[in-house]
Amino acid sequence: MSNKRIYLDNAATTGVYGEVLNEMLPYFTDIYGNANSLHGFGRDAAAGVDKARDIIAKSINANSNEIYFTSGGTEANNWALKGVAYANQKKGKHIIVSSIEHHSIIDTAKDLEREGFEVTYLPVDETGLVSLVDVMQAIRPDTILVSVMSVNNEVGTIQNIKAIGETVHHYGAFFHTDAVQAMSVIDFDVKDMFIDLLSMSSHKIHGPKGVGALYVRKGVPIKKFMLGGEQEMNKRGGTTNVPAVVGFGKAMEINIKNMNEANKTIANTVDYFIKKLTYTIPDISINGNMEQKAPSIVNVSFDYIEGESILMLLDFEGVAVSTGSACASGSLEKSHVLKAMGKSHENINGAIRFSFGVDVTKDDVDYVIEKLDAIVKRLREMSPLKKKRAKK
Ligand SMILES: *Cc1c(COP(=O)(O)O)cnc(C)c1O
Repeated sequence: MSNKRIYLDNAATTGVYGEVLNEMLPYFTDIYGNANSLHGFGRDAAAGVDKARDIIAKSINANSNEIYFTSGGTEANNWALKGVAYANQKKGKHIIVSSIEHHSIIDTAKDLEREGFEVTYLPVDETGLVSLVDVMQAIRPDTILVSVMSVNNEVGTIQNIKAIGETVHHYGAFFHTDAVQAMSVIDFDVKDMFIDLLSMSSHKIHGPKGVGALYVRKGVPIKKFMLGGEQEMNKRGGTTNVPAVVGFGKAMEINIKNMNEANKTIANTVDYFIKKLTYTIPDISINGNMEQKAPSIVNVSFDYIEGESILMLLDFEGVAVSTGSACASGSLEKSHVLKAMGKSHENINGAIRFSFGVDVTKDDVDYVIEKLDAIVKRLREMSPLKKKRAKK
């Protein structure tokens, strides 16, 4: 095992900033009250939660009473779809989602289909973009909700969210976006961008895991999802995870302040990575949209060989990458995202996602490319696909 440790899997999760941890610590020890209690201990905890709610609301130009804390992006997505579906089914039972959504959207949509809702899965082009024409054509009088993610977690493609939101509103449906991967990329303004619901997660922006939020525009009917107490304005039961919420707020504050600078640094490193990669290793292709892309995500298909083999050999050299999404890579199912983009079996099998953070240096990139080059050469020498191709 190498003693190097280079983390290129920031789309799966990020490390908690020291400042975030410091903000959280007193809420484990001194300020441990239940945020819903009426005494001083409770009020002190509630003050921490209120502050975080204000920061998060402001970061997307929403009001504080439109932000509901959840256990993460997954819960926010489940709730957005089911909550709006159940509360609006008298108006219609048709929902539209894109075919490259995170599993927390796709699987919830499938569950709603089993419950008698109708779902249209929007196609994407070869770069992962949803077309506005397809949105228009899919919308019907009984469409209640359209959900399109802002930034895709596997290839980084950024959707034309404002244009989609405006179109959806024109036809009288509600618009939800999974912004979990986008919070560090897009400066959101939910009013200007016609967004009715928006999902966020703390651990993708250097906050703690297990906490997120759903923005629900005032006036959008949504059914309570987690039954129990009257927490979160009586919309989501369960004792508030105060330290996590406080950490999420701090992470968001830092994220908003540093976003432009961080993305410039990352774009610079990634540019160097792509140049060096394409110069050094033949027979590769980069998946996604080069014009509209999260700077941190680079999805590469290596011809003739398996992504899993590359991942394991890179891990042996201390380099952490991913094949597609973290959730998909735990199962045998291959990327539904690359499939929807029309990629071949070989391209899908040979895909690796590199996702960068600000701390990655050019020296790190040099090390990764050197190891990757050797690994790819070694795997290709053994590849039956490559041998078969050479004979032709
Ligand atoms: C990580 C992720 C989620 C899930 O968020 P959790 O907080 O881990 O549940 C949802 N959508 C996208 C696009 C993601 O990248």
